[in-house]
Amino acid sequence: MAEEKTKLSLKKGSRAKTERTDPWQVLVVDDEPQVHSMTQVLLRDFQFEGRPFAIVSAHSAGEAQGILKANHDIPVVLLDVVMETDHAGLDLARMIREDLGDRRQRIILRTGQPGEAPERDVMLAYDINDYRAKTELTAQKLFTALVAALRSWQQISTIEQLNATLEARVEERTRDLAEARAFAESLVELMPQPVWFKDALQRYRLTNRAFRELFAIGPDQWHGMTAAQALGARMPVHEDAGDQSLLGGHQTRIELETQLVDARDQQRTLLITKGVFTQDETVHGIIGIATDISERKALEKELHRLAVTDPLTGAANRRRFMASGHIEIERAARYQTPLSVVMLDIDYFKKVNDTYGHGIGDEVLRKVADAVQGCLREIDLLGRLGGEEFAVLLPETGLDAAVAVAERLRRAIGAIIIPLTDGGLSVTASFGVAERDADELLFDTFLGRADGALYRAKESGRDRVDACQP
Ligand code: GH3
Ligand code: MG
Ligand code: MG
Repeated sequence: MAEEKTKLSLKKGSRAKTERTDPWQVLVVDDEPQVHSMTQVLLRDFQFEGRPFAIVSAHSAGEAQGILKANHDIPVVLLDVVMETDHAGLDLARMIREDLGDRRQRIILRTGQPGEAPERDVMLAYDINDYRAKTELTAQKLFTALVAALRSWQQISTIEQLNATLEARVEERTRDLAEARAFAESLVELMPQPVWFKDALQRYRLTNRAFRELFAIGPDQWHGMTAAQALGARMPVHEDAGDQSLLGGHQTRIELETQLVDARDQQRTLLITKGVFTQDETVHGIIGIATDISERKALEKELHRLAVTDPLTGAANRRRFMASGHIEIERAARYQTPLSVVMLDIDYFKKVNDTYGHGIGDEVLRKVADAVQGCLREIDLLGRLGGEEFAVLLPETGLDAAVAVAERLRRAIGAIIIPLTDGGLSVTASFGVAERDADELLFDTFLGRADGALYRAKESGRDRVDACQP
């Protein structure tokens, strides 16, 4: 914008510098030689805007044509009507307007005979600007007629110049806009995220390569189509979700997370951002951008899993086990369903470590966790509470069933053989079982009762199950 202004003021400056002092050229077209000399005399002492007048002479319409074709800087033509033919002057006027296409040049007809005046419609058609009898043209009258002609020539010139400038600027603007548009389109096309624009009737008006690749749709398979038409059965739920709310002006932007199976059969999690495209307070449509967050989601899931899992055994860690315990005890209380918990502790584990080393101890812990896990249902939860102490949460399970589970676990652990260079190592574990009391709401107390039973199992000889009787 600033640059444009400078350009304009420069133009103005240069125009002021080139103020003209050369004479106004007046083309006299007449077959009578004395008309030329007389006109010369009449105009000798006149000036208009500091510029004198100079006569350019043509003695026939044909000669005048040649002059006009070569010289475009003649503002006024003083034109005789009858020369080589009766209408040679009018033919020249037509040639000026039609063949040369000059609408600026002022044409003043001068005739010897009043009867030679052209028809009115000819005057209009060829834009003949004045009509005078030769006898009528005294110095003053000729001067006034010329000044009037020059003034309108100047005005027309100014207007033509403005028009040309305006046209040039419109052209420039149009080019700039087309360039900006092409740039924006290339940018959108290049973006790695799928991008689309739907009009107010939810028909695609723009999609980029990433979008088309996501759905494997061809170049002719989307423009002007709705999502249902373009994508058919592959249309994901997010495609039109929230559109009505945006188009209705209830929201200007929405974000949603969605899952879809892409054209390469890959499960993807996408974050969809949709916004209204508004111009002059009218909603023209919806712009959508999809960001693939599959990797981030997988990473988040893995991080969460790691945060709640014991790395050695894969069992739930203490934090997760206790949190699940709180949830399950509340659920059991609300729905009056049985809930049991089994605590187990490996017998003489310290000796395993001391005898075979920490590595074998770890191996025993892993094998025990695997054996327990293999005996459980999907809804049961194994947790490692610490060291060689585990607990199992058994929803929908009463005391007798829980004792049976513990027995099964005891046998499964007893069956483990850790291969050693000289034979194999077996371990046993002790178990404490408890069922939630009817009015029991605290998981810690509940777990404490199972721990009490475990203590008794240890006390009474290990490798056995003790239950906390109601
Ligand atoms: P009890 O039959 O009374 O349970 O005797 P115990 O030896 O099993 O019990 P104690 O609590 O005295 O010893 C537990 C041992 O478990 C002590 C500790 O070094 C070991 N331990 C705790 N965590 C780990 C672990 O992650 N890996 C290994 N290898 N040993 C562990
Ligand atoms: Mg132990
Ligand atoms: Mg212990």
